[in-house]
Amino acid sequence: MEIISAYSQHTFLPAAHFSYDAADEVINYFPQALKTNSGKIALLHEISHCELGHFHYVSDLQLYAMEIDAWLLTRKLAKKFNIPVEEDYIDECIESYNQWIEKRGTCPRCSTFCAQKTEVEFECYNCLTCWRVSANPQVRTQRRIIAS
Ligand SMILES: [Zn+2]
Ligand SMILES: [Zn+2]
Repeated sequence: MEIISAYSQHTFLPAAHFSYDAADEVINYFPQALKTNSGKIALLHEISHCELGHFHYVSDLQLYAMEIDAWLLTRKLAKKFNIPVEEDYIDECIESYNQWIEKRGTCPRCSTFCAQKTEVEFECYNCLTCWRVSANPQVRTQRRIIAS
């Protein structure tokens, strides 16, 4: 695979989905998808996270900024490898992050959108409810009230 051999300094592992494991600096990729353009773009996206030195994030907004940065580099790499960029695919990925951020940051009691206190904790400035979320962005959003 042309893209993987161009980045032989990185570690690639076949997996069921595309992701970048910042803790182990491993790029997980789904081999069957590499025949398709969107699969190649997904691979370049994870390489972008790796190239940009993205590590475990602290806040949702930092994660969002990393996503935007990674997509910017993905576009440049796609050009280099002559892979057509499907704007719909990128829009969908960014939109899913938007929804993720909105859902995590919305108070489960009064629906006010709030800023994050720690990596996994939010506190509502309106009704003072505190809630916890998963530190892993791959995990479906679940808000647990811890105090009010
Ligand atoms: Zn990403
Ligand atoms: Zn509230």
